[in-house]
Amino acid sequence: MESSNYKLIIVGAGAAGLMAAAYLSITLSSQDSNHSQEPQVLLLEKMPRAARKLNITGKGRCNLTNARHWDEFCIHIHPNPNFLKSAFYNFSSSDCMAFFEQLGLPLTIERGQRVYPKSMRAMDVTDTLVNSIKAHNVVRLLQDSPVEEVSYKEGHFFVAAGGKVYSSENLLLTTGGMAYPSTGSSGDGYRFAKELGHTIVQPIPSLTALVPKDYISDNGTLTKLGASLKGLQLKNVSLSLWINGAVVQQEFGDLDFTDGGIEGALGFRVSRKAVASLVQNQKVALSLDLKPSLSEEQIRQRIKRESSGGNNSLRFLLGRLLPKQLIAPFLALNPQLEQMSSSKAVEQLPHCLKNVNFTIVSYVGFNRCVVTNGGVSLKEVSQKSMESKIVKGLYFAGELLDLDGDTGGYNLQIAFSTATLAARNAMKLSE
Ligand SMILES: Cc1cc2nc3c(=O)[nH]c(=O)nc-3n(C[C@H](O)[C@H](O)[C@H](O)COP(=O)(O)OP(=O)(O)OC[C@H]3O[C@@H](n4cnc5c(N)ncnc54)[C@H](O)[C@@H]3O)c2cc1C
Repeated sequence: MESSNYKLIIVGAGAAGLMAAAYLSITLSSQDSNHSQEPQVLLLEKMPRAARKLNITGKGRCNLTNARHWDEFCIHIHPNPNFLKSAFYNFSSSDCMAFFEQLGLPLTIERGQRVYPKSMRAMDVTDTLVNSIKAHNVVRLLQDSPVEEVSYKEGHFFVAAGGKVYSSENLLLTTGGMAYPSTGSSGDGYRFAKELGHTIVQPIPSLTALVPKDYISDNGTLTKLGASLKGLQLKNVSLSLWINGAVVQQEFGDLDFTDGGIEGALGFRVSRKAVASLVQNQKVALSLDLKPSLSEEQIRQRIKRESSGGNNSLRFLLGRLLPKQLIAPFLALNPQLEQMSSSKAVEQLPHCLKNVNFTIVSYVGFNRCVVTNGGVSLKEVSQKSMESKIVKGLYFAGELLDLDGDTGGYNLQIAFSTATLAARNAMKLSE
């Protein structure tokens, strides 16, 4: 058995692990041009290549941060934005953008202050981090090295990976959550943290598709309703989330129906609360307003105008009020309208257009969700340093923590901010 002693071992070379390693490579080599010949930091990655998840972020384009200032940024962080504050001020989204641009990766800011590499290639973000690690002799990166066990004894951590045991004075766990386990993030860090004495807040999927009742059949295929809705993309609609009969969240924007259920920006935004409520066996429903800028009375007036030519059939009026591709799914969701007299159906139309209701029965699980809600309890981690309050020298960063963000670059910025703060403190770097 080989045993080597490092100042810091980082477990997991995803967004957080790579950022911690790249940040240390650059900072330590610039502070000490004669730094020791042997790397002081070991970065262990289970997969044959680092950052499989980072490479698929933002549909392969990587929305690496969000350029909003803290006051607006923090609204998108859950469940405790305050926990991130020190880390964010230590390495903010502007610091993140400057960091990548100084390393030769030009960036661009798109709608909603979302930041992407100008090349629109997530691989370029990974390569920038990996190349800056390889350019210095500060961090030893070992891929294909799944960590099986970690332990702590008399001020030292022992990390078993691939038949070898490595030891270190400090340990940074950046093993991610459980979303998309095929990328390597399958929840190993929860076990390590638990064995070292930490509490894990139950991990559940977030930013995921919500499955309406009668959308997917028992054998997993789409029902007639599911098939009629799949592929539909709605723009500028309003969505209300109902829990146990009360509205708890209302959002405006775009929504998609896919083979998983209701997703897209709006679906994802309500999914965090919806999934948490389903897990607790609460009643979850969604109500879609297809005409959010008009009141029922205004729609009624419009119907009056449209039918002044004499044609007041339901299908004719729907053709005037909705995009063509929405008419059949709308009728599939409101089958009662075609079963009643035309005048009665037209009378009910304004209400139906503003209240397309879905009972939500399920959600798409970890296999295809974007992020994990839950993880290492924030109560047991110092927000000033990311160090464990239980074991000295143990640090956490990234999605492994009970901290997650909305879509828009927030999750990667969580990973980058917490990773740089943890790395800085683990290596006792001055401000
Ligand atoms: C499809 C998809 C698209 C996304 N798009 C965006 C986006 O555009 N913008 C955004 O902000 N966020 C996005 N996210 C979320 C974001 O990718 C994650 O929140 C972020 O990658 C978390 O970083 P992390 O380093 O904590 O974990 P990860 O990036 O998951 O990295 C964890 C690493 O640890 C390794 N590991 C796990 N266990 C072990 C072990 N036992 N030994 C050694 N290594 C181990 C894993 O192999 C992995 O490489 C997306 C997520 C998904 C799934």
